[in-house]
Amino acid sequence: MSLFYESKNIYENKQELPAIFEAAAGYMDFMKHCKTERSCTAYFKKKAEEHGFLPLEKGKRLQAGDKFYIINRGRAIYLGIKGKLPESEGIHIAAAHIDSPRIDLKPCPLYESEELALLKTHYYGGIKKYQWTTIPLALEGIVILEDGTTVDLSGNDYTFCISELLIHLSRKEMEKTASKVIEGENLRVIAGHIPDMEADKDKVKSAVLTLLHEKYGIKEKDFISAELSLVPKFDPAELGFDKSLIAAYGHDDRICAYTAFEALMQIEDAPEHTALVALVDKEETGSQGVSGMQSEFLELVVSRIAPEESILEIFNASKCLSADVNAAFDPLYPAPTEKQNCCRLSHGPCITKYTGAGGKSGTSDATAETMHYFTKLFDENGIRWQTGLLGAVDAGGGGTVAKFMGNRNIDTVDIGIGLLSMHAPLEIASKADIYETIRAFASFLK
Ligand SMILES: [Zn+2]
Repeated sequence: MSLFYESKNIYENKQELPAIFEAAAGYMDFMKHCKTERSCTAYFKKKAEEHGFLPLEKGKRLQAGDKFYIINRGRAIYLGIKGKLPESEGIHIAAAHIDSPRIDLKPCPLYESEELALLKTHYYGGIKKYQWTTIPLALEGIVILEDGTTVDLSGNDYTFCISELLIHLSRKEMEKTASKVIEGENLRVIAGHIPDMEADKDKVKSAVLTLLHEKYGIKEKDFISAELSLVPKFDPAELGFDKSLIAAYGHDDRICAYTAFEALMQIEDAPEHTALVALVDKEETGSQGVSGMQSEFLELVVSRIAPEESILEIFNASKCLSADVNAAFDPLYPAPTEKQNCCRLSHGPCITKYTGAGGKSGTSDATAETMHYFTKLFDENGIRWQTGLLGAVDAGGGGTVAKFMGNRNIDTVDIGIGLLSMHAPLEIASKADIYETIRAFASFLK
């Protein structure tokens, strides 16, 4: 018997490689097609329907084993399976987010300068702005036209880019700090260059508007009733000679959303406790708003699952895994992490007692009892897990949806997959962690 605690690299066991690579292939296909919360919601809805999940309608009575889903405004989806026990015995919830850092168009984005049409933007979520210049960007999202028609621009073949000053003339720029070298107002993308010689002013902007109108019926005013985002235009790629890792845009937090979803899809029989997977929006900007985890849409969902029971009693008896990514130890940047309390690539899902910053500020600090419940559950199910914190004390910090579940009086702990380069246009994750995290969620939801 060892008295020491240590986590292990899942890749040490070569027999599991085929299963790990198979799980990762499904994830990569999802990541290739889903780059916004709307596209993720549509993907999960379609897949869930294929697994027999039905819309959770008002007034509909659920029986044990019934599989259901409900969409919140096209930007979040809640899926679940009714359990054998009444909800007053508690619901088992896994909550992840499907929004990722990106660059949103402003409501009046289009203008012309020096024979170039450009789009003004406001970045979404925490980014190092200099990482988002000179990379190919795709435009995703919807526009609602004056007559109410919704135009979905996702999957188009346009490419956009934010230019940057050449090194030869950057003597002054190179002296600026990283947070200042690219200003937020300079995150503007090039959108066109051919002029319309018939137009009396803004000839290039006019030509772009004509193109958009001919192809989609879009007028300049319609940008106001739109959600348009620029996201990195890269397909997910297997990384390294051994292809053990995946480089992709938006692992945060679609990697946790996908693994929780996959675990739910694997459940055949009615679980003991009602299982609920909440895949929500707006985590990157604080979880506010109708589609974020602070929205009372969760209360609506629970009231539809168990119309006769007290939501307060249900929450009091429930448990939640707040599923979000963590910072894996990076040998290139050891300083801001504390080696004994950080997660590592391929050591399985990372359980995190608290997040926050500077004196645990803004965290939901899981109770010892909740930590024990989950570590025991995972041990009993042979799940290889690890524990870790986001960084060394006072190195910085971050938050998740955990506190919004904790505030609802739901016992909650953070769990997630460790990444390298979190919030960069291209993030790195381990295939082994995807495989093991699906197993971890399944052990809790089944
Ligand atoms: Zn994030």
